[in-house]
Amino acid sequence: MDRQAPSRTSPDLTTERIYCNSCKQITNHEEKFRQKVVFSEEQGFHEYLLHSLLMCMGCEEFVLRRIFYNDETSSDEEAEIRFFPKRLHSEHTLKPYSKLNSKLSTLYKEAITCFNERALILCAAGLRALLEGICQDKKIKGRNLKVKIDGLRDHLPNKNIVKNLHQFRFMGNEAVHELEAPKAAELALAISVIEDLLSFFYELDYKASQLRDMRRAGKTKMKKTQKLSDSLTHWADAVVAMPESVTTKPEPELP
Ligand SMILES: [Zn+2]
Repeated sequence: MDRQAPSRTSPDLTTERIYCNSCKQITNHEEKFRQKVVFSEEQGFHEYLLHSLLMCMGCEEFVLRRIFYNDETSSDEEAEIRFFPKRLHSEHTLKPYSKLNSKLSTLYKEAITCFNERALILCAAGLRALLEGICQDKKIKGRNLKVKIDGLRDHLPNKNIVKNLHQFRFMGNEAVHELEAPKAAELALAISVIEDLLSFFYELDYKASQLRDMRRAGKTKMKKTQKLSDSLTHWADAVVAMPESVTTKPEPELP
């Protein structure tokens, strides 16, 4: 996560760089309020809860951050950091497929929901079920998923997709049979493989996709313009309400 380490000892409020859901990028956030409490104490060992209310200096939206740490926590990586509302930079957006039937569409949506909620075992199991469902829908028979994936070879122009699907089958197996959670980055890759397959068989509706993106971009722009015009009456406010110029791409959040 690209941001300054919070100053836990100094009472001075800080400015930090965190992802803003509204600006859709990492922006400067001003800490407006901070409270540290001792969560528990046992034989001289303390656990703490630090709450900070942060305001995006671009769009002025607020976010509450909670950091849970103890006397032995030496870095931010070891602390448990939560944001309310949750930061959405690792959120995967559903793609519209024009010819996907409702059963497969539900499976796809549920698998993506699991990914976004970090239910990684269920996401892997869902993607595996989706792959089985696609094979069934395309009338590809086989005694197990391996044979069915090989059966897809005749339908696909790109044999690499089949190779990637086998990788993804192993991952689904481990998740379902050994209850081993795959890494979020691996699952993101698996989702892109299955989406390639869905695009080929069920046509990604590019127009719907573009329209949705345009609407989203328009909404963000309108919101920013409104904020800016509201602030122009106060010169000092206008300075902080200027659009954020930094375009750092956020790193994907790993579990
Ligand atoms: Zn913002």
